[in-house]
Amino acid sequence: MAYLTSAPRGTKDILPEETPKWQYLEKTLLETAELFGFREMRIPTFEHTELFSRSVGDTTDVVQKEMYTFTDKGDRSVTLRPEGTAGVARAALEHGLLGDALPLKVSYNITCFRYEKPGSGRYREFHQFGVELYGAASPAADSEILALAYHCLKEVGLGSVVLEINSLGCRECRKRYTQALIQYFDRYRGQLCGTCLERLEKNPLRVLDCKNPEDQRIAAGAPSILDYLCDDCQEHFREVQARLTEAGIPYRVEPTIVRGLDYYTRTVFEMVHTSPNGERVVCGGGGRYGGLIEELGGNPTEGIGFAMGLERLLATMTAEGCGFPPEEPCQVYLASMGESAGVRAFRLASLLRERGISAQCDLMGRSLKAQMKYANKLKARYVVVIGEDELQRGEGLLKSMDTGETTPVRLDEGIQIP
Ligand code: AMP
Repeated sequence: MAYLTSAPRGTKDILPEETPKWQYLEKTLLETAELFGFREMRIPTFEHTELFSRSVGDTTDVVQKEMYTFTDKGDRSVTLRPEGTAGVARAALEHGLLGDALPLKVSYNITCFRYEKPGSGRYREFHQFGVELYGAASPAADSEILALAYHCLKEVGLGSVVLEINSLGCRECRKRYTQALIQYFDRYRGQLCGTCLERLEKNPLRVLDCKNPEDQRIAAGAPSILDYLCDDCQEHFREVQARLTEAGIPYRVEPTIVRGLDYYTRTVFEMVHTSPNGERVVCGGGGRYGGLIEELGGNPTEGIGFAMGLERLLATMTAEGCGFPPEEPCQVYLASMGESAGVRAFRLASLLRERGISAQCDLMGRSLKAQMKYANKLKARYVVVIGEDELQRGEGLLKSMDTGETTPVRLDEGIQIP
């Protein structure tokens, strides 16, 4: 029976008290992106499994361990999206959006699904806001994305976030760096965890991502990717930084950032908030991906984007005391006594709602006293009591619940609420 009354592990209901915060956050992020020319895109919740194994990379944790994959009734393998970039890339290709009007700039607010161990801000179903910019290889595009990430966080009240940036170089830089990493980690084979030994074979960069303290200690002494960048990649990274400095966007170069997914090249970054107890909280991250569209069968097209986890962002905003707009209470409650008065209350409520004024009336057959108590609970700004007398006169008293003051009010089309 517990299955009927408790949500699946790692999922969370957003109750009516909390939804205004979510609506505010999602709206603010979408509107900020719009200021930069990004338009919202909506993609399916599930895709062909192959899309993710191809794009996210089949050596990543996300693909190897965390995907919600199932066979549908048509015997096709489908997967609930673990992130948004792959779906947006697929849609852009499918609808020919990578043709002429480049750059393509899109934003999205989605739910994502990853079979992870729930806890400390980790869910199996969570929300991401993200953006993608296609078609521009220039450092200007990287700076634009970084500026947008910073502005999004600033808009919601997290002005002290710092962007930690790194460059993973191009394929050539990566090849040389990977060799250097293998050489370095080879010396520590006896001390690395089993997963890292596997990563060393399949994708040595991932070893830098290990959460195991002993492996982290070893990784701290590993060569830095920044020493392996070719001239072009160095110049690109330098230009990105110059633009950020010019625009006054706070950033820090952090050579250990490799990001969890395989498709990144050149700029990668994380948006980092330092909590009052000094903990490093990553609100989101992103980067440039060169090979993704090609991997999916399209012409080589550069892309760059980021995604923010909204659960973590909301938790950080709450911990930081960021302001949320106050909830709009019910403007007027129309209390009634008797059936005819109830019908009039309903008519007046309809009239007011047509004018955009939130109005409620009794649906429970409650006594007048109970209706007043309910109006209080709703935090209604005004209450009108409609009884036989008021019906006859076509006029009643509008009571301000703040001040207790009453003013006469018409109980027909002429009804006016301040
Ligand atoms: P990623 O796509 O892994 O780069 O994640 C981007 C952001 O999504 C992270 O910075 C987190 O804020 C958020 N995120 C990733 N996985 C989860 C999860 N299991 N639960 C909640 N948020 C997550």
